[in-house]
Parts: sequence; structure tokens; C-alpha cells
Amino acid sequence: METNKVVRFNDDKGISNRLLTRLLDKSTKYGLNEVIPFNVSKILVAEWVHLKCRYGCTKYSTNWCCPPATPNPDKVRKIIDEYSLALLLVGSAKCPDFYRNNKRKRAMQVRCWKGTVSLERMLFLAGYYKAFSLVGECCALCQTCAYPDDCRFPQEKRPSVESFSIDVIGTLKNVGIETTVASNANDSFAYYGIILLE
Ligand code: SF4
Repeated sequence: METNKVVRFNDDKGISNRLLTRLLDKSTKYGLNEVIPFNVSKILVAEWVHLKCRYGCTKYSTNWCCPPATPNPDKVRKIIDEYSLALLLVGSAKCPDFYRNNKRKRAMQVRCWKGTVSLERMLFLAGYYKAFSLVGECCALCQTCAYPDDCRFPQEKRPSVESFSIDVIGTLKNVGIETTVASNANDSFAYYGIILLE
């Protein structure tokens, strides 16, 4: 007789190559090309990132996944202190869409968003009960966010990486990843998500 498989919760055991391969397999279906484990001590949280959200970003105070709806830098530091391992997710897209708010851009954002949340779910089911996603850019699941009214898809609501005041470039340097600004229309740009793991 077949019994239901019970997965034990993980307790600071890192992540196996087998699970990483499964994650990568799934992530490529969502336009994410790399899944890189790293120590959370490499995550840089900076006040200036929060400043850039508050001043100069059109999304400020318009989306549940951006400030001021998301935790402030002090709170973020405390949250990150509760983790030791994270996964960096890397995707890439063509530059012409970056500053546009068109269907193609939104489709890419939604794909990446759903992919990241589904990887988090996969990790939870593999025993990583603390797994929590921070997604690249801001939530575009709805054409216009319901903020400040109730979120329409609360189960998929997560903060964006940037809203967590994470200095993405500084963090990438710490992880040993070189990156450049895509300054020409024909360049591709990379986008990054993080899953706080354990
Ligand atoms: S799911 Fe919709 S309402 Fe909720 S944060 Fe995303 S865009 Fe806003």
C-alpha cells in the first residue's frame, strides 16, 4: 500500500546539488537562467536604496510590493539576520522594454514573479519552511495595483528585492558576480531575485 511521503523540515543543512538541479530546471521555464546559493552575510542593505525608492521612483506608494508598504531598512536587517543561506535567481531580457510599461514588459515581470514564488513553494515542500521570496522589480500581476485597497492576489504578494533596500550591485560584487549597466538599446539587461532560504 502506498503511503504519503513525509518531508522533514530542514535544519541548516545547506542545499543539495540534486535540489538545485530541480530548481534550475523549473526556473528556466520562467525565464530565470541561474540559481546560485550564497551566504546571507553577502547581502548589503543600504539606506540610500530606500532613498531612491522614496525619491525618483514612480512606483513609490503605488504598489503593495514597494515602499512604504514594505519593511524599512532596520526591519529588513533584522529579518535577514534570521537567515543564513539564500538563493540568487538571475534572468535576462532585452533592454528596449526596460523603461516601458507595455504588455511584453509586464508579461516578463509576471512570468518572473510567478516563477520565483513557485520556486519558493517547491523549497517549502522540500523542507525549507522559512523560504521567502524577494522578486525583481515590482509586482505587475495586476495591470494597476489595488494599493492601498486590498491586494487581489495576496498569496503571491512578496516584496521586491529593491523594496527591501538591498544594494543589488554591491551584493552581486560580494557574491563574485560581475555586472554592468545596459546603456544601449540593443543590450540585454539582467534582473535578479532572491529567495531567503534558511
Ligand atoms: S497582486 Fe495586484 S494588488 Fe497585489 S501587489 Fe500585485 S499588483 Fe498589487
